[in-house]
Amino acid sequence: MFQNSLSKSQFIRGLQCPKSLWLYKFRSKLRTLPDQAKLALFAAGTEVGQLAQKLFSGGKELQFGGTSFAQKLDLTAQYIKSGVNNIYEATLKYDDILVMVDILHKVKDGWEIYEVKSSTSEKEVSVDDIALQYHVLRGWGLNIVKASLIHINNQYVREQKLDIKQLFKVVDLTEVVQEKQEFIQNKLKALRKVLWERNMPLLDIGPQCFKPYECDFKDYCWQHIPGYSIFNLRGMKLEEKFELYKQGILDFRRVPFNYALTDKQSQQIKAELNDEKMIDQKKIKAFLDKLYYPLYFLDFETFQTPIPPFKGIRPFQQIPFQYSLHYLNSSFDVLSHKEFLAEPGTDPRLKLVKQLVKDIPANTCILAYNSSFEKKVIEDLADIYPDYADKLRDISNRVFDLMIPFQQNYVYTKEMKGSYSIKKVLPALVPELSYQGLEINNGGIASITYRELVKEKDQGKRAKVKDNLLQYCKLDTLAMVEIWRKLQSFI
Ligand code: SF4
Repeated sequence: MFQNSLSKSQFIRGLQCPKSLWLYKFRSKLRTLPDQAKLALFAAGTEVGQLAQKLFSGGKELQFGGTSFAQKLDLTAQYIKSGVNNIYEATLKYDDILVMVDILHKVKDGWEIYEVKSSTSEKEVSVDDIALQYHVLRGWGLNIVKASLIHINNQYVREQKLDIKQLFKVVDLTEVVQEKQEFIQNKLKALRKVLWERNMPLLDIGPQCFKPYECDFKDYCWQHIPGYSIFNLRGMKLEEKFELYKQGILDFRRVPFNYALTDKQSQQIKAELNDEKMIDQKKIKAFLDKLYYPLYFLDFETFQTPIPPFKGIRPFQQIPFQYSLHYLNSSFDVLSHKEFLAEPGTDPRLKLVKQLVKDIPANTCILAYNSSFEKKVIEDLADIYPDYADKLRDISNRVFDLMIPFQQNYVYTKEMKGSYSIKKVLPALVPELSYQGLEINNGGIASITYRELVKEKDQGKRAKVKDNLLQYCKLDTLAMVEIWRKLQSFI
């Protein structure tokens, strides 16, 4: 493609930030490539797009990859001329803009555009996306009578069989898309001007770096921002951080003494500048006094998908496939451990439930880190398995949140860098215990690894990956034990 031509994704990139478009066209090597988590997200989006095609069955698809864009353009034109009713990934070009339409559907008096997104609501960026398609397709010569968005209906609960009519929500955006045409044309003019320039636009960093997507040129544009700065101030709105930045304030030292900070932000700054530790013994004691033996430390690993894979699941519902439990029956007891990991490719829930209710006896005290997550997982399981509901709800009622002392700043040290996530609290309080060196070192990677494992046929490799998953989850609960011990040492 020529450098002044545009694709749909480049146009959306340019709307977010003209500099990002310029960099993409002329300095693409500066871009940070998508990581494993982003690639998994793209793959899930493709799966959703292909499923939505079934709403308009019997069509012709222009597969992504394989053929060149010139061939796709020719094929699309042929399909349109020969009266194909549904074209998936229809590829059209007008005004030097190339678009691929997820579903192009023929009706009596013209054509309908359907854009498929795996989001659960209608977003401005989707409207812009469809409005550009409308501009191109009309210019190409098609009579577009309807322009719609198909997104995921997050209220849908799967029965045994997947019902795609219930899973997807179709939103008619024809009117708003038509109203946007002038905006589209003005933006196209402005972006083309940017692309005619030899020099990079002089645009500073701003909230646009994150909205609607985190920009993949951030590593390049943010080089002048130190690793720890006012951008790490806890709980401060992004717009507020940029206000400080515009005044040339990056370092905590330069934040005006009369600036309206929350208590937690003030503590964060004080801790950093004066190396002050915040340890509120009274509050820590009150928290620890609520806990009792036998004391269990619980952590789930879960995955979520836009298309519910099993009965009783909503889109994006967290599905537990693994847990780790460390436990102490008394203050003199030696630490013990139990764990569960489901066989990939199966519905993990019932086996997990059966083992969980066996592994956690009645009248035990359970600690989780960010317990609302664990409680929600358990309550969802109770809803779907009535035979175990009482036991599961009883477990959920006994879960305490180990995150509270850090979220509420009973304990704060400068090493936590304004965060109360376990990944920051652990190295601050127990530096000898670390996730470094583990093949899997965060929940996102654990979830992707588990889902990918179903494709692994080599038994040796499979066993190794399972072991990596078990090691990671085990460290999560061991980290909780050590953090709890550290809290005890403070009082
Ligand atoms: S990082 Fe920010 S300023 Fe740089 S190109 Fe991206 S959006 Fe624009």
